[in-house]
Amino acid sequence: MSDAPAPEPRSVLVTGGNRGIGRAIAEAFLAQGDRVAVTTRSGGAPEGALDVRCDVTDPEAVEAAFAQIEGAHGPVEVLVANAGITADTLLLRMSEDDWSSVLDTNLTGSFRLAKRASKGMLRLRRGRIVLISSVVGMLGSAGQVNYAASKAGLVGMARSIARELGSRSITANVVAPGFIETDMTAVLSDEQKDTIKSQVPLQRYGTCEEVASTVLWLTGPGATYVTGAVIPVDGGLGMGH
Ligand code: NDP
Repeated sequence: MSDAPAPEPRSVLVTGGNRGIGRAIAEAFLAQGDRVAVTTRSGGAPEGALDVRCDVTDPEAVEAAFAQIEGAHGPVEVLVANAGITADTLLLRMSEDDWSSVLDTNLTGSFRLAKRASKGMLRLRRGRIVLISSVVGMLGSAGQVNYAASKAGLVGMARSIARELGSRSITANVVAPGFIETDMTAVLSDEQKDTIKSQVPLQRYGTCEEVASTVLWLTGPGATYVTGAVIPVDGGLGMGH
């Protein structure tokens, strides 16, 4: 066993941490002893996490959530902006609402969170921001013009934050999962799932835990010199982008 002291617990915020990828990320931080807050619209955070209701499309709710989290756990030192939605349909059928609801949740929601979290991080003079994007942000995807645009936007956002806040030891990175078994992908038909699998070099879906372990690494002591990066967790599906 190592004699190295255990790392100090940090105040961690994971949005959308009641299920799927976000839940696995929250559980991984809890397992290493961090103080974890989980925000969702419907509740149901994992045991041991602070369960905070917050719709990321509502700026006042985001402000109230941060006040609650800071009161309980101190300033957020690690932000994982994971909450996201899809509203898939082909371009010609895509309504203004399909477009704006996805952009407002996935892209503008992440902006609201990163902006608010950076206040505390600037005071601490350290912080880790991880934005959960998707392989389709770079690859594109028929029927996902809104979703792919929102996920591609996160790359420019993270890289700009990395440049703005790097001098204060704040990193901003993107994790781009491929196809992961969650509620979001459960809606796909077996045929669609088989087609996707056949295009993935590793020939399978990923697990939520495989995404969580990458996020843990990016926010841990092994990634102090990594910022503005896009880390794929996609079985090789998006390589070359
Ligand atoms: P799920 O659909 O399983 O969960 C989505 C989460 O986001 C829920 O916790 C939901 O909680 C929360 N959420 C959605 N809208 C809002 C909102 N307006 N305000 C607050 N919370 C919200 O998604 P996954 O676990 O599959 O995906 C998680 C992230 O990973 C998403 O950003 C997704 O785009 C991305 N991703 C997923 C992939 C996959 O294959 N599954 C692949 C690539 C990327 P509640 O409903 O309670 O608010």
